[in-house]
This record gives sequence, structure tokens and C-alpha cells, in this order.
Amino acid sequence: MKSGNLGYPRIGADREWKKALEAYWAGKLDEAALHAALKTIRLDNLKKQRDLGIDLIPVGEFTYYDHILDTSAMFGLIPERFGYTGGEVALATYYAVARGNRESAASEMTKWFNTNYHYIVPELTAGVKPQLTVNRPLEAYREAKAELGIEGRPVIVGPYTYLKLSKGYAPGELDAWIDRLLPLYGQVLRELAAEGVAWVQVDEPILATTLDESDLARVKRIYEALAGEAPGVKLLLQTYFESVDDYDFVVSLPVGGIGLDFVHDGGRNLKAVRERGFPADKVLGAGLIDGRNIWKADLRVKGETLQSLLAIVPAERIVVQPSSSLLHVPVSLALETTLPQELRGALAFADEKLAELALLAKAGSEGADAVEAELAAADRSRAALQQSPARTNERVRTRMASLASEPAARASVFGVRRGVQETRWQLPPLPTTTIGSFPQTPEVRGARQKWRKGEWSPEQYESFVQAQIREWIDIQNDIGLDVLVHGEFERTDMVEFFGEKLSGFAFTAKGWVQSYGSRCVKPPVIYGDVELPQPMTVAETVYAQSLTSKPVKGMLTGPITILNWSFVRDDKSREEVAYQIALALRDEIEALETAGIGMIQVDEPALREGLPLKREQWAHYLDWSVRAFRLSTSTVRDETQIHTHMCYSEFHDIIDAISALDADVISIETSRSHGELIEIFEEHTYDKGIGLGVYDIHSPRVPSSDEMSHMIDRALRVLDPGLFWINPDCGLKTRGRTETVDSLRNMVEATKAARERYAVKQ
Ligand code: GLN
Ligand code: ZN
Repeated sequence: MKSGNLGYPRIGADREWKKALEAYWAGKLDEAALHAALKTIRLDNLKKQRDLGIDLIPVGEFTYYDHILDTSAMFGLIPERFGYTGGEVALATYYAVARGNRESAASEMTKWFNTNYHYIVPELTAGVKPQLTVNRPLEAYREAKAELGIEGRPVIVGPYTYLKLSKGYAPGELDAWIDRLLPLYGQVLRELAAEGVAWVQVDEPILATTLDESDLARVKRIYEALAGEAPGVKLLLQTYFESVDDYDFVVSLPVGGIGLDFVHDGGRNLKAVRERGFPADKVLGAGLIDGRNIWKADLRVKGETLQSLLAIVPAERIVVQPSSSLLHVPVSLALETTLPQELRGALAFADEKLAELALLAKAGSEGADAVEAELAAADRSRAALQQSPARTNERVRTRMASLASEPAARASVFGVRRGVQETRWQLPPLPTTTIGSFPQTPEVRGARQKWRKGEWSPEQYESFVQAQIREWIDIQNDIGLDVLVHGEFERTDMVEFFGEKLSGFAFTAKGWVQSYGSRCVKPPVIYGDVELPQPMTVAETVYAQSLTSKPVKGMLTGPITILNWSFVRDDKSREEVAYQIALALRDEIEALETAGIGMIQVDEPALREGLPLKREQWAHYLDWSVRAFRLSTSTVRDETQIHTHMCYSEFHDIIDAISALDADVISIETSRSHGELIEIFEEHTYDKGIGLGVYDIHSPRVPSSDEMSHMIDRALRVLDPGLFWINPDCGLKTRGRTETVDSLRNMVEATKAARERYAVKQ
């Protein structure tokens, strides 16, 4: 039995990769030095995998930015606006597509399936002409062999996944695009075969989503064609992140092996193998070690799964693998020296996962006795965490035990609350507000650094934050906004800030994961029961409110966003952890209300991205997500106004869930989607307060009040002016000060004009 890996994190244990890229972009590294720096990282990564005992090491998945962009560049699929004229894509062009340049906007990026990794969306418009510019996997294979003597397994993104994730062509042109790309894929594979490559990993995660008959017919056509194009090389058709939708279909495709995820499949892949068998002429890539979380595996349970596979597939045709590329987990535990010991002992990052795979393969070949000592050690580490007091907080337990009787609905329906709130707040029609954060200037970030390093006392830092709040309350009053915010100056990241204050969370030193390009995130680790030890936001909010007679909105991150942007303990369901967070947030909301804060915003920007890959599981996810939000927000008085905020526009599928959150006011992004969102309200009436962002905060450009008037008019064609709010698309923390003030002034001006146009009755 062999062990294989599907992809290794690019970023380096200490983000060396990020540093090299950013130095190059800043002009501090020349191109040759960048190539050299990345080659060092790439070869180190390969060596590590070999030293950890992995038999089948992936090559070619390493990237200078993103693996989907690499595929586009390999096939010369560069949007016309970048002036590309064929041949190998210059590094400057490659990075221009990813990041934009002076003349042209970058290509869009979007989330890679249900992960927090973002890829660059290929733009397959009529003008782009596919051609093989360079055989990337071949180059990677040659390098690994020449430099390290490693016989790597080249990785490519499969044609169907690539095309389904692309945009720019009409649905009717999909088949023509398949015809254009197939010969190029064929050539890549033929050249690999000629080089003596035995196996190629072809990633087709799209096979784990919900597909229809015409999709399956196309997938069949693609793999029949590729089998004909390159008979000399075996393809491992690799799926991940879910069960394959149509098992019989997938395993009947003419490829040498099938890779299945046995971790995130809800048990369906294993069930299918057991019930339907597995073809005798294929290799099974058994995704047993979780490529998406950071916990040590229960290797005894993994061993049992492996045994049940061995009852159907002989050991020489099984490769044990992670469930997906390890791109989604941090690199190595070696640099984690400050975590509580019982937590650290129970963690496994990429390197530790590879060691687990090697152990599993050994157990599969030589029997479990051969690895008994290692299994026993792993059992002990896992048990130590399980017994940690952080894991069993009696107060949380008690509360969770009576969850069924916890209120998850406001005392009155919106129609009643609306009247009470109007009487209390006396807001003008079309009230103006912002989403929460104001510019995090170098000064603000510098102050936080000083405080973190101990150069500033907590009092010094606190008075700095207060001064910022004071300044921005004055600015907001001066601009004439109706509902103010304190500005979030004390927060770095909207999840980290709360994670640091809630119990049950831990923060790694170097647990970075690539989010997009060189940007990495360090998700908090939820490892214990979640509780609110003391109020988190009351002091700043109350201080801000003390400076003005206008309402100041309290500002919190919602339970689903905290959950979805963290690594979550694996001994409880995500649903249960979400409820724990929800109850802790309820305590905070009640504390804010008690302290006199009458409007509280609970942000859920990550609600949509948590949607399962399979449609049939959406309803269940949305049900418990909505319940979690409502557990947080339902115990306040009628007169207390709950806001929520989301910044994405694909609402079609979840509009009912959004409405079920029962927030008094929602603010959502619209300006970047050019009004797509507005169309939804032609079909669905939304009957609570709503603010559609009237300007895009992702650009430093100051929009004119005319532009914003236009956005307002467009929205008011379908939405009730009596329930409409005026706000930007999202928080303003990445913006500069002057542009923020100027934009908000124009927004207020546009609002005043709109109030006259609509003469909305109060
Ligand atoms: N309140 C947050 C802010 O203004 C919301 C951020 C977000 O939606 N991502 O920054
Ligand atoms: Zn937002």
C-alpha cells in the first residue's frame, strides 16, 4: 500500500513565499531573485514530503499566485485587455491578471468551492485563443527528478472543473470550449507520457458538486477523449470536498484511478464502495486524512475505514491520501511553541498529516501491530485534550442542555417592532449609516503594535482608541449621518477580536493559510466550550454613545461568521458549536442593551460561503444558521433595533433564510454587482428595513452624489422607501481618511436630494 499527497501548502512554514512575492511586487527583489527564492521553497517542500515517507509526491501544484491562474497561463487564456499576444506569459502579465495594473482591472477572484481559498476566475471570451504556452507539469516533473531524484506525480486541474469555474462564455459555448481545450490537455499528457511519467493527478472537484445529465455526458466525453489522446499515462481522477454525486458513473470513466474523499463525504463514498464495489482495473485514492482541519486523526478509526476498503480493493491498488490538497491547512507545528500543551499535542498541520498518512500506509501493508506504539501515543494526545477543563465548561453544558427552551424568536413580529422603533428613534426617512469600521490608518495599527509589544500600557492604548472614537463621532456628526458607529479602531480582524475575548478559543503563532495571492489568514482555533467571560464591546460603544445624541450602533460579528472563519473542534457538530457561540453573543447583546445601546448590528458576511456543496444539504445548514443568529438576537426588547450586514450579492438561493434572520435592518452589497441584487426584489418582497450599498468601498475613488442618486433610484423602483436605508457596501477600514469623508459627504448629499424626490412620509 502506498501513501500519496494531493498538494502541499505553498506559503512556507514562516510565510517565506508571501514575503518573496511581496518583495518582488515592491521592486525589492528582481525577477531572477524571485525565481530563485521560490525554487528554494518548492524544492524544500518536495524534500519534506519525501522525508516524511510519502511515496507519491505531487509536483506542479506549486504556484506563483494561484493554480487556476497557472492553468489559464499554461493555455494562453489571458484576457484581451492585458495586451497578451501569445507565447509564454510574462511574469508581469501573469501578475497583472491577478492584481490589475495601471491600465487594466484584475480578473475577478472567487472562492474555491467551500473553502476560504480564492482563485482567479478565467475569462473565456471570444477573443482569447487557447494554445499550449508551456507544459508546466512537465517542467515541474523534470525539476523534481533532476534536482532531488524524486519521481513526482504531476497535478493538473481537470478540464471540466476548469471550464465550469470560468466565465465569459455563454452556456451554449461550453462544448466548443471543451473541443478547444481537449487537444491542449492531450498534448500536455502525451508529453508527460513521452517523458516516462506513470501517473498524473487530474483534479476534478466539480464531480463532488450537484451535476446534471448533460454535465455527466460532457465529463464522459472529456475522459474518453483524453484516454485516446494519451494512452501511455495513467490518470488519477481526483475528487474532493464531498462525495461524488454519481458513483457508478465516476468509477466507470476510462481512467487509471479514482480519488475519493472519505472525510467530507458524509459517509456516502464509503457506502458506495461497499455496496457497489470498485472496478478491478483501477487504483483507489483513499482520502482518509482530513485536508481541511488541524486536528490529529483518530488513526484507529481511520484504520477501520481502511480495513473496510481492503475488503473490496487489494492493498496494492490503494493509495492512502489526504481528503484534499493540504493547501487549506497550516504548514507545520514545529513553530508552535506557546499553545497549551494539551491543545498542541492534539493538532496536526500539513507535515503532521503527512506523517499520519505514512503511518496508515504502513499499517495497511504490515498490519496495525507495526505501528501500535505510534497509535497509542496519538490516543494519549487526543485523550489529553478531551480531558482538558476547557473542553467541558459546566455552565455551557447546562445551558446547552436546555437549548430547546431558549428563545429563538423576538417577542413581537416585525410589524409591531417597527412602530415601536420608529417612535423611539424618530429617524429621518432614508436614514444614513455606515457598516462599522473607519480607516485603520498606519497610526491606528502602529498604536496596536505598541500596546501588544508592551511599549504602551493598556491605559495608553485605551485613551488612543478613545481619541479616535471622539474624532470620528465628530466627523460623522459633521457629515450629517443619522446612525453612527464607534469605528472599530480596537479591532484587527472581525473574528480574531472576538476569539481573543471569548473562552474556548486559541491562537496559533504561525498557523497561516493562504486566502488569496500572498494574503494569508490565521484562523482562530475553537477547541473548548465557548462562553463570554466579560463584555467585549460595551466600553467602546458606550463611550461613543456618550459623545453624541444620535444613536450609535453596537457592532458584533455573528455566530456563523465566527464559526466559518475558524478551525472548529471535531468532537462536536458545527451546529452545536454555532449555538455555543450564539449564546455567548446573546450575553454580549444583552449587556449592550442594558448599557443603553439601542441599535446592535450582528455581521454575517460568511453566512453564504458556508453553504454545503450539495444542494440537498442547503436547507439543513440554513436552518441551524438562522437559528444560531436568532438565538443571539431574540431576547432584546421590541424597541431595540437589530441590524445585520452581509457583503455579497448572490442572494437568489438564500433570500428566504435572510428574511428568516428577522433582523430589523439588513445592509448588503450592491454596487459591485451592478444592481443584480435589486432584481431579486422584483420577485421577492422584502418587508423589513434594508440598505443596499450605494457605493463600492473596494476602490479609493470618491463616487459622486449623482452616481449614488442613480443607485438609490434604481433600488427604490422595487423597494419601499419607508424601509430603505442608505449606506456604503461594506466597512471602511481599508480606505484612506480623506476619501472616506468625501464619499460619505456625497452620500449624505444624495440622500437629501432623494428625500425630496420621494417626499417619504415619516
Ligand atoms: N462591521 C465590519 C466592518 O465594518 C463588517 C466587515 C465585513 O462585512 N466583512 O468592517
Ligand atoms: Zn461587508
